[in-house]
Amino acid sequence: MLTFKGLVVRETKKGESSKLITVLSSEHGVIDIFVRGGVKSSKSISSTQLFSYSNFCVDVKKDAHGYSNYYLNSCEPINLFYNVRLDAKKTALACYFTELLCFSRIENSYCDEILKLTLNTLYFLDKGNHDNELLKSIFEFRLLCEMGFRPNLVGCNKCYEVEPEIMHYNYKSGLLECDNCCYNPESIFDIRLDKALLYIVRYIALTDYNKLFSFKINEKYQQKLTEFTERFVKYNFKEYFDTLDFYRIL
Ligand SMILES: [Zn+2]
Repeated sequence: MLTFKGLVVRETKKGESSKLITVLSSEHGVIDIFVRGGVKSSKSISSTQLFSYSNFCVDVKKDAHGYSNYYLNSCEPINLFYNVRLDAKKTALACYFTELLCFSRIENSYCDEILKLTLNTLYFLDKGNHDNELLKSIFEFRLLCEMGFRPNLVGCNKCYEVEPEIMHYNYKSGLLECDNCCYNPESIFDIRLDKALLYIVRYIALTDYNKLFSFKINEKYQQKLTEFTERFVKYNFKEYFDTLDFYRIL
């Protein structure tokens, strides 16, 4: 039997009354847990629904191939992020976050930082003091940084200049080059970052979680940041997310 705290990132109905939930936890990454009678049981219904952060107690059974299968024994809710569920736009954004997590295939790996990032993002989305677009950008870029896609943001790859007026980031090479050194600024993989945008990008990639959400930006920079982080996800995941479209049309 295992006990751990985890966040439900997907719910799938299984048969008449059971369901499979996908849970993100520090210790096990993203794993599937089978919930017998989970659709009807009032005991576990709130703590096993999408976006619930709960204490889980699960039984582990190995199959013939040695794979572990998890079965829910009991669970208690810790935070249900109730306000996220009441607002269609916030729900759509949270669905996009959970789709990114399911896609990231972080099964059975240690995910302390990713869980921390996700819980913090949902906490601020639930509280409502932050701009949804900023939370989205922070989550998109930092998630990929924590997954090992963090680019080297120290300075120009050729002349080592740290803060030029304009820096170019190339999605394909993952490198920064200043305007003087940039070999192919017309490349489809190129994006221009001015000093302020570069500062914001570095901040999201590297700042501690206790300060990560403590900044605001104006609409002009939010648009630039949104372009930077959406292209970063698109290039590295090479996948199209329907939940992002749905969030956009609301
Ligand atoms: Zn340079």
